Amino acid sequence: MKITNIFKTQERTYSFEFFPPKDETAAVDFGINVGQLMKLTPSFVSVTYGAGGSTQERTFALVDFLQNKIGLNTMAHYTCVNASSEKIAKDLNYLKEIGIKNLMLLRGDPPKGQGAFIPHPEGFAHASELVEFAKHQHPFCIGGGAYPDKHPEALDFDTDIVNLKRKVDAGADFLITQLFFINERYFTLVKKAREAGIRCRIIPGIIPITSYGQIKRFGDMSGSTIPEELIRQMEPYQNNPDKIYQIGMDYAIRQCRDLLVMGAPGIHFYTLNKSRATIEIFESLLK
Ligand code: FAD
Repeated sequence: MKITNIFKTQERTYSFEFFPPKDETAAVDFGINVGQLMKLTPSFVSVTYGAGGSTQERTFALVDFLQNKIGLNTMAHYTCVNASSEKIAKDLNYLKEIGIKNLMLLRGDPPKGQGAFIPHPEGFAHASELVEFAKHQHPFCIGGGAYPDKHPEALDFDTDIVNLKRKVDAGADFLITQLFFINERYFTLVKKAREAGIRCRIIPGIIPITSYGQIKRFGDMSGSTIPEELIRQMEPYQNNPDKIYQIGMDYAIRQCRDLLVMGAPGIHFYTLNKSRATIEIFESLLK
């Protein structure tokens, strides 16, 4: 089912993001974790597309499995890194043929060591171009990325919003945010987006910090600001993983509760293919 049709009956959606497991052992672990998460009956699930298309085969195989064998509403991520429009057309046609109705379309990041994004000579420079191309090819339901902390390459927040509007005008049906930790930034993004004429749902993307090393990793990965107060709270417990986990979970639970109370249309969980943290947050929201 198209995610926009799910929106018609669900005021709030709860969705889980996975990445394709890298080998057989990881696949078994993935199966166990996904099995646990399925009990939460997510509104939809999504599968990431590795940098530069590195996971293409596994992404496509996993969306096929989740959609057609498990029966979940599944969204395939796809990027324009290293892809000509001819290749994109072929890939999207394949996804359509295996019954994928929902796509998360992204520009993608430049490969490591390559400073700026260099588009394929016969491809696209921005996600909005990919969205427009896909929409003309087939009436997919399309999600796009949005950035509460501003996209790291954008000159400023307002310019990023202008570009976000381009993406929606090109055919994005809804937006999911990059991970973030300061709710005020999400609500500012929503306010500015509405002022710019963006009407679609903007779903917050959430990840709990469950280990000390993730503080730096998540910050580097997403360009998101980790609140000083949270870092200060965790610092004394660097060698106490249980305590770090608890502090991270308390923070994530408060963050999700606040988002929902203040009107966010659901939560998209970056699960990192693990079930425990997502289940704990999810269950605490039902209390
Ligand atoms: P764009 O929307 O093209 O924006 C990128 C930059 O270009 C921004 O600074 C924007 O302001 C600017 N820009 C946009 N349009 C224009 C224009 N017309 N003129 C000038 N400037 C413009 N990456 C993966 O590799 N695989 C994944 O599976 C994946 N999943 C993601 C899921 C979500 C929910 C999010 C938020 C991100 C995901 N990413 C993924 C990361 C994403 O690929 C990077 O953040 C990438 O740097 C930007 O992608 P985008 O689609 O937001 O790009």
